[in-house]
Amino acid sequence: MKQSREGFWVPRVNAATCIGCGQCVRLCPTRNPIPREALHQRVVSGVAAWLKDAALLRASSSGGAIGAIVQALAGEGYGFCGVRYAPEHLRAEHFLAETPEAFAPARGSKYLQSLTVPAFREMLTGEKKWLVVGTPCQIAAFRRVIQTRGMEDRFFLVDFVCHGVPSAKLWEAFLRRAAKDHNPHDLDAIWRGKTRGWQDSWELRLTDNDGKTVYVDYATQNNLWYRHFLRCTAQNLPCYSCPFVGTHSGADIRVRDFWGERFKENTAGVSRVEVYTAHGVEVWEHAATFCETEPLSSEEIAAVETKMPCATPPAWGRKTFIRLLDWPNGFIWAHRWSLIGCAWARLRRLIRK
Ligand SMILES: Cc1cc2nc3c(=O)[nH]c(=O)nc-3n(C[C@H](O)[C@H](O)[C@H](O)COP(=O)(O)OP(=O)(O)OC[C@H]3O[C@@H](n4cnc5c(N)ncnc54)[C@H](O)[C@@H]3O)c2cc1C
Repeated sequence: MKQSREGFWVPRVNAATCIGCGQCVRLCPTRNPIPREALHQRVVSGVAAWLKDAALLRASSSGGAIGAIVQALAGEGYGFCGVRYAPEHLRAEHFLAETPEAFAPARGSKYLQSLTVPAFREMLTGEKKWLVVGTPCQIAAFRRVIQTRGMEDRFFLVDFVCHGVPSAKLWEAFLRRAAKDHNPHDLDAIWRGKTRGWQDSWELRLTDNDGKTVYVDYATQNNLWYRHFLRCTAQNLPCYSCPFVGTHSGADIRVRDFWGERFKENTAGVSRVEVYTAHGVEVWEHAATFCETEPLSSEEIAAVETKMPCATPPAWGRKTFIRLLDWPNGFIWAHRWSLIGCAWARLRRLIRK
């Protein structure tokens, strides 16, 4: 995988070692889309869940449903594959852990595109069983690989509703500005801190090697990083037409934040869990014993379902926005450019009226 000029991981063929088998093109979910029938259809539409362990819940992005699944599979010989933030490379990356304790760096959403190799490649060798957590596209593509190789029994797959992944350039440009006189490579990042509770958990925090906070911001209006992430200003192009939203998935279980009316006073975090396979039903039965759970009504499920985050056309000027991020003070130039884009979009709406 190589980083593109827009700051996304894309596969490149090494002509010197390629044997021309065509496997990469056959398996690629972008070049050769996965038909809906090849995905699993949802069997359990949704249950609200949050971890009983308060410390684990605090460290999780929402209700910690993934933490409960980790605990359920820990006694069954599974290893764990998830995403940590690697400040030395300013990137998110999949890594492998043998125990739930070693899996702790995976807790918390990292709103970046993760590098899946070499962790995904390593899991394909040997006989070990693995829980794999990733975005819906990563998981559907991985499912296709393990299906092709006849090794599905060794894996339990979890994905989440995904807002799309923003360009690494947006993150790097933001860091150059927010880190001030610190070296960005020495800073750890937390995207969904819960210091002020969960409902307002757009808390973005950078800490140095001693754990001291060097940057923190809470409100999405002032926090330009979140503003551009949530507005999908510079997401990966395939995210804008994501085929994995809705009631089909390559995973056994899908989780998401549950911001329902019923939990509007909740400050600790609530997940919504959806189950897609018989294996998923079995594992969730065990995982639910680590959680408090409440069934959801069909109205509650439908209300959130209509708010699918991705699959909207890219914002006007996206390409230029990403190019400007390379400039000195690029974050601010790109932001100003996006304001012009917003004004232009408003004007066009007015003219159309
Ligand atoms: C890029 C991104 C966009 C998201 N968009 C939405 C959304 O629009 N709506 C919504 O309801 N939920 C969204 N989520 C999911 C949500 O933020 C929570 O991660 C999810 O509800 C699980 O919560 P938890 O408390 O069980 O997980 P936690 O215990 O906090 O664990 C988070 C899990 O996500 C995995 N992970 C973290 N970062 C990445 C990454 N960059 N790529 C792949 N896997 C990762 C980790 O391995 C870990 O297992 C998004 C997550 C990401 C990473």
